[in-house]
Amino acid sequence: MTSQVYEFQAQARQLLDLMVHSIYSNKDSFLRELISNASDAVDKLRLEGLRDKDLDADISDLAIRLTPDAEARTLTVSDNGIGMTRDEVIDLIGTVAKSGTDELRRKLAETDAKDAGELIGQFGIGFYSVFMVADSVELVTRKAGESVGTRWSSTGDGTYTLDEVADAPQGTAITLSLKPVDDENAVHDYADQNVLRRLVKKYSDFISWPIRMTVTKQVPADPDIEGAEPTVEEVDETLNSQKALWAKSPGEVSDEEYAEFYRHVSHAWDDPLETISLHAEGTFEYQALLFIPTQAPFDLFMRERASGIHLYVKRVFIMDDATELMPEYLRFVQGVVDAADLSLNVSREILQQDRQIRAIRRRLVKKVISSVQELQDRRPEDYQTFWGNFGRVFKEGLINDQDNAKAILKASVFASTNSETEPTTLVDYLSRCKPEQDVIYYMTGESRTQIERSPHLEAFRAKGIEVLLLSDPVDEVWVSSGIDFEGKQLVSVAKGVVDLDDADAADTDEDKSKRDEQFAPLLSWMGQTLADDVSEVRLSSRLTESAACLVGDDFSMTPQLEKLYRASGQ
Ligand code: ADP
Ligand code: MG
Repeated sequence: MTSQVYEFQAQARQLLDLMVHSIYSNKDSFLRELISNASDAVDKLRLEGLRDKDLDADISDLAIRLTPDAEARTLTVSDNGIGMTRDEVIDLIGTVAKSGTDELRRKLAETDAKDAGELIGQFGIGFYSVFMVADSVELVTRKAGESVGTRWSSTGDGTYTLDEVADAPQGTAITLSLKPVDDENAVHDYADQNVLRRLVKKYSDFISWPIRMTVTKQVPADPDIEGAEPTVEEVDETLNSQKALWAKSPGEVSDEEYAEFYRHVSHAWDDPLETISLHAEGTFEYQALLFIPTQAPFDLFMRERASGIHLYVKRVFIMDDATELMPEYLRFVQGVVDAADLSLNVSREILQQDRQIRAIRRRLVKKVISSVQELQDRRPEDYQTFWGNFGRVFKEGLINDQDNAKAILKASVFASTNSETEPTTLVDYLSRCKPEQDVIYYMTGESRTQIERSPHLEAFRAKGIEVLLLSDPVDEVWVSSGIDFEGKQLVSVAKGVVDLDDADAADTDEDKSKRDEQFAPLLSWMGQTLADDVSEVRLSSRLTESAACLVGDDFSMTPQLEKLYRASGQ
């Protein structure tokens, strides 16, 4: 079969373009990406081999290999993992499955070159990062159990070529024709054994499969043999220490090692904001290493987003999308759980039923929430970063996790009339309010500005009573769930009779009844005239400037929720 030329999918072309004209300064990261992919591929084959005893593939010596050629200026990264079929190559390498690339493109257009690295970090660019350092790339792969392999090659210019390969070895080999070494861009010589040795140590030391390289060693001449010459010997060297970081105690692991591991499991390019290490012994034995990212991934609010928890059983990789171990509202958490007592054959169905998994999940959830609380208590700046990126997601737990709702509420912050810029915790809110105030006031709306314009706030402002200003769609739902904080109900300023008169001593009962009498005819006329639109017209002390405002009754929806329902056609 002759070779066939294909066009990259449009989005893939944009990404490639980005890489070829790379604005990202840390070009070394391509190696980490290739090794990470190779490691995933080997994990998959090992698992497949355990599950399917008839699989025609050798899993006796699974490994990753680097083969630099200084003269030809090439570097090959190969693995004997699961490999890809021809269709998979087209699907996985020729297209960008990740949605959000358009957004990346748009953001890049409005970003300075020097900030582009951060953006790339946010979107995580895997395989295509090879085009930062290579003029052309060739990938040869054969899927485990298949006889014919596929060669993919491209110069990153919009098209790629596919060929059939009769004698491809099991797994995947990726050969880069390296760009000339260019000191100005701080591009290292990736065909140099010493450079590679150093980069593997730095980025991929924890990878659980051996990363091997054939190195040349000078063997001194044997002094006992007369006239003997020094010789050069070729030996295989394993470049990484292969230690499972989650099995070590935190004191033994450096921040940098954790950060690299985080980037490997999450396929992200940023640093973790917080690292959580957990070793449980007793009934259920397991180890967990979890990370809260610094940056929000672009697909945080996309439905098809995978869970970030990888499940291992006694160091053997089982699955990378263990949704059973982390609730949706903590979907930003990335990491590894290694359970000692599960079967290697565990299926998703079993996981859903498993008592052990449920127990682990309960513990992990509590641990993540308390870590957020700790950020709030001890690292205000990091907490602010966390809240800006994940607050809206975290608050979903107020609706979906009754058991932990109080803890989530405590670890959350809210905009309030107390400050233009600084959100408040509920603890601080209570510390500021008068002792006789026995509820927490809030108002929901589309934005802070919109809420602040509301006449409902007038009397509260006049009387100096603090009101939470809630403008995330999720707020609307949790506030109406009847949750309280330290025994104080949350009360909407836009609902029912908000009695502020207690706080206003000048207004005696006598004044009040006199006023009621005076306005009775007007109220009854208004009530009749507006009968189709409102259920009652009453005098109120809640306004100081506006003449009238609409309120719901105690059990009705807030205006915002009404709008939400109306918009969805209900
Ligand atoms: P990600 O690793 O985040 O999925 P990449 O761009 O790094 O994104 O890789 C895209 C996909 O290509 C991988 O998900 C995997 O399915 C496939 N792939 C890449 N490298 C290999 C490899 N060495 N062996 C098998 N499949 C691979
Ligand atoms: Mg990858």
